[in-house]
Amino acid sequence: MDFAEAQKEALGCTKCGLCHSRTQVVFGEGPLNAELFIVGEAPGFNEDRAGKPFQGASGMLLDRLLGSLDLSRERVYLTILVKCRPPGSPPRSPRPSEVSSCRPYLMSQLAAVDPKVVVALGEMASRVLTGRKEPLSRIRGRAVPLDRRYVFPTLSLQRALYVPADRGLLISDFSRLPELLAAERPSTYETLNIPGSPAAEREPIQPGLW
Ligand code: SF4
Repeated sequence: MDFAEAQKEALGCTKCGLCHSRTQVVFGEGPLNAELFIVGEAPGFNEDRAGKPFQGASGMLLDRLLGSLDLSRERVYLTILVKCRPPGSPPRSPRPSEVSSCRPYLMSQLAAVDPKVVVALGEMASRVLTGRKEPLSRIRGRAVPLDRRYVFPTLSLQRALYVPADRGLLISDFSRLPELLAAERPSTYETLNIPGSPAAEREPIQPGLW
């Protein structure tokens, strides 16, 4: 599925039960030639109302983090693991089956943008995007070379908003991004079989995600 097809399908998607709790699908936004690609877990109240990722307090924190790197959100592709807001207040975490249903849209976005660095915010995004099952505390802040790009797991913005010590860790992790963005793309044969990935044609592996 190419990017345009994915976007069109997602905007009317009813593939999982989250279609009943959303107001709007939050597909994602940003330039298709962005080198930095940031993935959150699920839309919250503000994202659901705006139809855009990273709004409200978490959006302001992200803007500050990007600003500290002389970046603005207009230069970054921003999206979310599941594109519809889960029910509850606060919303519950997405279920593995919902993440799996929504995964093809994320893979189409990744294939189209082909960023050099993918920041996975939070435990669930980190597992899906690295294909690893270790707890976030063990892989946080370490770049994982995959599909000729760096996947960089770190803490969620929500956690950083409420736990000051974690905010410091998140700031420290983001400070590594310029180094990764300036680096050559990694040469690796490991792949999550993202369509369009040259590595996928050479030696595909399918890590167990859950
Ligand atoms: S979360 Fe994803 S798979 Fe589920 S209804 Fe929304 S767009 Fe479709």
